[in-house]
Amino acid sequence: MSESTVTQENASFEQIGEVLRNHQSFVLLSHVRPDGDAIGSQLALGYALMAAGKSVRLINEDGLPENLAFMAGSEKIETPPADPLDVEVAIALDTATKPRLGDRSLHAASNAKIWLNIDHHVSNPKYGDLNLIDSTSPATGQILYQLIVALGLPMPAESRDAIYVAVSTDTGSFQYPSTTAVTYDLAADLIRRGLDVGTINSQTYDNHPYRRVELMRALLNTLQRSDNGLVASWEMRDQLRVDLALTPDDSEGLIDIIRAIRGVQVAVFFEELPDGKIRVSMRSKDRRFNVCEIATEFGGGGHALAAGIRMKGPLEDAKPLVLGAIRRRIEAAGL
Ligand code: AMP
Ligand code: MN
Ligand code: MN
Repeated sequence: MSESTVTQENASFEQIGEVLRNHQSFVLLSHVRPDGDAIGSQLALGYALMAAGKSVRLINEDGLPENLAFMAGSEKIETPPADPLDVEVAIALDTATKPRLGDRSLHAASNAKIWLNIDHHVSNPKYGDLNLIDSTSPATGQILYQLIVALGLPMPAESRDAIYVAVSTDTGSFQYPSTTAVTYDLAADLIRRGLDVGTINSQTYDNHPYRRVELMRALLNTLQRSDNGLVASWEMRDQLRVDLALTPDDSEGLIDIIRAIRGVQVAVFFEELPDGKIRVSMRSKDRRFNVCEIATEFGGGGHALAAGIRMKGPLEDAKPLVLGAIRRRIEAAGL
C-alpha cells in the first residue's frame, strides 16, 4: 500500500484479530531510539503471539537499550538482520511515521505482505494496510492490553510486565493528563494477574547509571529560561556523549526536570547527534499550547503535550528557529 494513502478508518479489534489468527509468521517493529512504550509494546504483543503458537521476530533499528534490559524476555529484541525476513505480517508499534522505524528495519521487514500499524500518536498518517491509531490512549501498551484482552489472546508474564512498563513510562508514572480510570484499571488488573509492582517500579526508576547524573549536572549548566519564565531549555553537545560514554537512553526522561519548574509551560531539550542533526524534545504543561503542532512545522511529530523533531544542524541555527516558533505561538495563544 502506498505511503500517500489518504486517511483511512481504523480497523476494528476483530479485523486485527483475523490477521493475527490467519497468519503464522510476524515481525514486530518499533521506533528508533526506543523508549519503554516501544520495547514494551513489542514484548507485550510478541509474547502473547508466541504463547498462541506463532513465530515472532522482534526487531529494533537501535536494539535493546541498557535501561530496559531488566524487562523479562527482552533478550528477544534484535537489531535488524542484513537480509529481508521470511515473514507474512509486519507490525509497526508506537511509531508515528514509517521512516521512524529505521532503514535497516524497513529492509528487514520488506517481504511482509501485510502491514499493521498500532499506535497512539495523533500525527500518525495511518501508513499500514490495517491501522489501529488511538490518540486518546496514553501509551501503545494500553491499546495492546485492550486488544489482547478483547481477542482472548494469552497474556504470559512477559506481556503482563511489558504492558505495565510501557504504560508507566509513557504516562510519567501514571501522572500525565492522558492517564484515565482505564489506565488505573489496567494497572490494577495487571497486579491481580501477578505483577510485582514494587520490584518493577524500582527496576524502571531507581536503577540509573552514575553517568546519567553526570549528564544531568552538565545539562543544568546550560539551562536557560525565557524572560517571561514560560519556556525552559537546555542543550547537549555531542562531545558530552563522548566524554561521559553516554548511550541514547541516558537522557530519557531528563526533560521532566525542567518541565517541573513552577511557571514553565514549555520545556525543550536540544541534543546534537553524532551525524550533526539536532534532536529536539518538547513538553507542554498547558493544553492550549500544542507542541505537536510546533514539531510538525519542522517535520517532526508526537502528541499535544510531548513531541519531538529530528532537524538539520548546527545547534546554533536549530535553537533560535525552534525557540522563535515557540515564542510566536505562545504570543498567539495569549499565554
Ligand atoms: P521524546 O521527546 O523523544 O520523548 O518524544 C516525545 C514524543 O514525540 C514521543 O511520543 C515520540 O514518539 C514523538 N517523537 C519524537 N521525535 C519524533 C520525530 N522526529 N518524529 C515524530 N515523532 C517524534
Ligand atoms: Mn515511544
Ligand atoms: Mn508511546
